[in-house]
Amino acid sequence: DRHPAQTQLQQILAQTHARLASVQDGAVANYIPALAVVPPDLFGLAVATNEGKVEEVGDTAHPFTIQSVSKPYGYALALDLLGQAAVRRAVGVQPMAEAFNALVLDPARSRPFNPMVNAGAIAVAGLLGDALGAQAFPTLQDRLSRAAGRPLTLDQAVYHSEAATGHRNRALAHLLHGAGVFGVAAEEAVDIYFRQCSLSVTARDLALMGATLANVGTNPVTGAEVFGVEAVRDTLSVMFTCGLYDGAGDWACRVGVPAKSGVGGGLLAVVNRQLGIGVFSPRLDAAGNPLRGLLACEALAEELGLHLFEPS
Ligand code: GLU
Repeated sequence: DRHPAQTQLQQILAQTHARLASVQDGAVANYIPALAVVPPDLFGLAVATNEGKVEEVGDTAHPFTIQSVSKPYGYALALDLLGQAAVRRAVGVQPMAEAFNALVLDPARSRPFNPMVNAGAIAVAGLLGDALGAQAFPTLQDRLSRAAGRPLTLDQAVYHSEAATGHRNRALAHLLHGAGVFGVAAEEAVDIYFRQCSLSVTARDLALMGATLANVGTNPVTGAEVFGVEAVRDTLSVMFTCGLYDGAGDWACRVGVPAKSGVGGGLLAVVNRQLGIGVFSPRLDAAGNPLRGLLACEALAEELGLHLFEPS
């Protein structure tokens, strides 16, 4: 038998999913052919609590590539391995006015503005390359897998497509290497980044990965200690201020919890000490965020009183 609160959560999820399923605004990412062919109507919504309970509705088992939702996890791993001071020297924590893939560094410090935009995530990949060599990607894959509670695999088609077309990301890697942000070859850093973006996940995985952060770094189902407390605190802080690209300020007011979106249609939100939300919805809005994902999180925040600055 289900706990009444859990039945209520399942009902709210089902209603939200039903209400938003027919929304067709936005467009699927088409910068690589492998993403342009994703069926646009897929829609999955999952919530995982700090007690390790998972509720889900819709296409929550359909695999898609994690893309930028991997960025907070690379950052958390770098913080765990290298400490805050070393990571902060290489990557800032400031929101950036430019587009997520802009070829810009913070001019005052010759480092990326924050780890949630491409420049910052590639810088983090370079730091992992410096620290771990050939083990950088396998270590990151292992951390992401433990956060999800199952082994995550690479989508080879998306990886090859990213690697074949990612000239702007390569340019960023060279800019960063030239600025001395990391020592490993630019091509090596950007390859770690292409691989991490190409990991295959589901909405259920994202909910559990979110719950791992909400549960201060420990996966609530498996009990695995995936990230340290300090790494989680810094990671959630930059997710709150920089997680949704140009939409971050709007999101902070409307939903009010740390989150990260990806162009593969994934969206992850974290309610500190309570739960993780994972959404899969491939159509993106003008800022590059999964449109129904934003609406679903906004509705859940409202119904469940999730906003950080909710008075009660
Ligand atoms: N692979 C994508 C890129 O680097 C990820 C961007 C995203 O998910 O926002 O352009």
